[in-house]
Amino acid sequence: MLIKAVFVFLLVMVVIGMIGNALFPGAVSKVAKRRLPLAKSRTCPKCGRYQIGTSGCGCGGK
Ligand SMILES: [Zn+2]
Repeated sequence: MLIKAVFVFLLVMVVIGMIGNALFPGAVSKVAKRRLPLAKSRTCPKCGRYQIGTSGCGCGGK
């Protein structure tokens, strides 16, 4: 009985995921693409320190 409930719950989650993917195609990949350059700009390419804001850090590296 409990296993059946879990199976139905998983099935509902899969259906919701499929509907979401059909309604908003590429919405998940868009978020992933937006996050990638943001994560890259977080650290300085010269010294590797974490940066606050978009301008370069104090080490003088571009
Ligand atoms: Zn730096």
